Amino acid sequence: MNSNRIIRFFKIRWVLLLLPVLLLNACYYKRHNPEDVEHNYVLVVHGGAGYADPEKMGEEGARLYQEAMKSALAAGEAVLRDSGSALDAVEVAIRILEDHPSFNAGKGAVFTAQGTNELDASIMEGKDHKAGAVAGVRRIKNPISAARMVMESSPHVMLSGAGADVFAMELGLEIVDTTYFFTQDSWDSYLRQREKASEGEGKHGTVGAVALDKHGNLAAGTSTGGMMMKKWGRIGDSPVIGAGTWADNASCAVSCTGHGEYFIRYAAAHEVAVRMEHRKWTLERAAHYVIDDLLGKQEVNGGLIAVDKYGNIAMPFNTRSMFRAYIKEGEEPQAFIFKK
Ligand code: ASP
Repeated sequence: MNSNRIIRFFKIRWVLLLLPVLLLNACYYKRHNPEDVEHNYVLVVHGGAGYADPEKMGEEGARLYQEAMKSALAAGEAVLRDSGSALDAVEVAIRILEDHPSFNAGKGAVFTAQGTNELDASIMEGKDHKAGAVAGVRRIKNPISAARMVMESSPHVMLSGAGADVFAMELGLEIVDTTYFFTQDSWDSYLRQREKASEGEGKHGTVGAVALDKHGNLAAGTSTGGMMMKKWGRIGDSPVIGAGTWADNASCAVSCTGHGEYFIRYAAAHEVAVRMEHRKWTLERAAHYVIDDLLGKQEVNGGLIAVDKYGNIAMPFNTRSMFRAYIKEGEEPQAFIFKK
C-alpha cells in the first residue's frame, strides 16, 4: 500500500466509526428536544369513576353524558389543532365539565356533611414541572383556572379556603355566590346519603383531562367537589400534585379519580410515571398496575386517565363505570361510560 492509500483507508475507517456516534447524538437530541419534532396531539377527559347504573341511566342519559364529554374534547381539540398548548387544552376542557351540572366538579359539586360545597383542583405542565392547585374553595366558578393562576401568578403551588377565593377574585376570575353550586340532583343525593352513610363515607366523582400537544408537551388537570358527605375542611387527592394529578414530559400525564385518601397515600399519579421512567414499563402496564394491583387489591375504588409522550393512552378503572373520552389527531372522538 502506498502512503496515500493508507491515509484514505484510515479516513474511511474514522468516518465509519464516527457515523453511529453521530446518529446516536441526533437521536438523543430529538429525545431531549421534543419541541423540534411535530407530534400528533391527543386529549383525554374523564368525568369520574363510580357505580353508575346502566338501567337507571338509560340510553338517553348515557348519550347526554357522552355529548358533554365530547363537547369538552371539541373545545380542547380546537386549541391543540391550532398548535396551542396541552395546558390550555386541559384547562378549557375541564372548564366545560365544571360548568356542566351532571359532573362532580364546579357547578355540579357534591355536598359536604354540613351541606356546603368545597371544591379542589390542580393543574400541571410536563415541560418544567410547574404546578398549581386550590383546595376547599367555595366561591370560584372554575377552580381549574384558579389552580392555573396559582401556578402562573403566585410563588406558591397550593392555596386553600378563603385565601384562595380572595386570590382568584383579585386576579379577576369569576366569583359566584355559594348558592351557584346548588343543584337539585346533588342535594337529593346528599339527603339520601345522609340517611344511610356516616360522615366521610359518601360517594364521589371528579373531572380531569390530560393532553399531548403538537410540540410534544404534556399537561394534566383535575377538578372535583370531592367526596359527598366529606368532613368540613377535608381535602382529597385531586389538588395534591403527585396524588391526583401529574405531568412530566419524560413519561406521561395523569389525572385520577377515586377514593382520594388512598390516592394520596400511594402517590398514585406519580407512581404511574415512576414505573415508566425507572422500570421502563409501558403506560398501559404502569396505569393498570396502579389501579388494578396497587389500589385494586386493597379494594380501593377508582380509575385514571393518562397519555404518554408518544401519544399512547390508558384509561383503567376498577369500578363499574368511568366517564371517559378521547380524541386523537385525525380520528373521531370516542366516549365511554361502562366497561366495553
Ligand atoms: N378523588 C376525589 C376525592 O377523593 C373523588 C373522586 O375522584 O371520585 O376527592
